[in-house]
Amino acid sequence: MIYLDHAATTPVDGRVLDAMRPFWTEKFGNPSSLYQLGGQAKLAVDQSRKNIAGLINARPEEIIFTAGGSESVNLAIFGVARNYRVAPPKSYHLIASAIEHHCVINSFKALAGEGYKISLAEVDKQGLVNIENLKKLIRPQTIFISLMYANNEIGTIEPIAEVGKWLEGLNRERQNQGLPRIIFHTDACQAAGFLNLNVNRLGVDLMTVNGSKIYGPKQSGFLYVKNGVNLKPLIYGGGQESGLRSGTENVAGIVGLAKALELAEKNRAKENRRVSDLRNFLIRAIKKAIPNVLLNGVDPTIIKVSSNKHQVIDKRLPNNINFTINGVEGEALMLYLDAYGISASTASACATGALDPSHVLLAIGRSQRQAKGSIRFSLGKNTTKKQLGYLIKILPGLVKQLRQVKNLK
Ligand SMILES: *Cc1c(COP(=O)(O)O)cnc(C)c1O
Repeated sequence: MIYLDHAATTPVDGRVLDAMRPFWTEKFGNPSSLYQLGGQAKLAVDQSRKNIAGLINARPEEIIFTAGGSESVNLAIFGVARNYRVAPPKSYHLIASAIEHHCVINSFKALAGEGYKISLAEVDKQGLVNIENLKKLIRPQTIFISLMYANNEIGTIEPIAEVGKWLEGLNRERQNQGLPRIIFHTDACQAAGFLNLNVNRLGVDLMTVNGSKIYGPKQSGFLYVKNGVNLKPLIYGGGQESGLRSGTENVAGIVGLAKALELAEKNRAKENRRVSDLRNFLIRAIKKAIPNVLLNGVDPTIIKVSSNKHQVIDKRLPNNINFTINGVEGEALMLYLDAYGISASTASACATGALDPSHVLLAIGRSQRQAKGSIRFSLGKNTTKKQLGYLIKILPGLVKQLRQVKNLK
């Protein structure tokens, strides 16, 4: 088995599992219970919150635990939108990039159905948004911008800190004009483990992170909510998580998430160097071995990387490789690779079953046919050069075979 789909999900790290285990068994208490067993669980949740806050330069009370990335994103978007709904119904306006994850895009579509105005910001051929584009979309009634930190399909890293800085200035002007403040959210599900999550440096009001992409448990995640930013909850009940996410806490999941983020941060610099070298190797090898392919996203070979800082200047996630292979169905190639024990992905895992071409690839200018002829390899901490060597031995033959079949038809 060669697993090259870490952007879809990662296995749980053994150390994460060890940290979680007691909270399913002997330490199973409800954190809201006042006897010792509950206190033990509460302590673990509090400590996890503190640890995560420390890792992203936030305060503990700014961390709201959720059941994953999609829920955090929904809480951010609907939480802000519904908070403004309280005012007389005007058409409040929200902006996201055109290449956001489906949990953002489909939340926006739902809001549009409720009467909110939405805009999707264009990206360039590499998948980058620019501030000039965003500027043109701003209206007096704009209340929210969602821009992902790194794209899950093509690995493009968006200029979050730059947008954050611009918005800070813009919000000062808007305050003087009596206009609503624009809340800035970033979906950092793919960035966690690879990029700097310091919320002050990024200048974000809200940030989504999940556990299932960083060797933590699935259905774990948090939303960073900057002090002073008001949200309406999605889930009402006993008032857990500062009233923003009721329900008995997933104590084991929270402990696992904190442990996973701690480990990811500890190994980040070293892993980034190792994995980006593997990425560059595979990109070069595919270009060399297969004719008529197009790299989707930023070409790391044309970006200057200073001698020891890989992660800052390189605008592609260290673990992402995404190619359009002209004349091939990505779906078929994925299944062929699976027969050889290699797991890869055609677009985002969430879109499986749907045969729609990827909205991300269309947004960067690929045709429908090219978008369907694309494949993503996403590397992880267990990926070795030997595994990639095997892939590159198999892949050109499979592509040749599939292209011949297509020509016969
Ligand atoms: C995986 C992912 C999500 C969704 O997270 P879940 O935990 O699966 O709900 C959201 N955004 C991005 C960029 C992702 O990669």
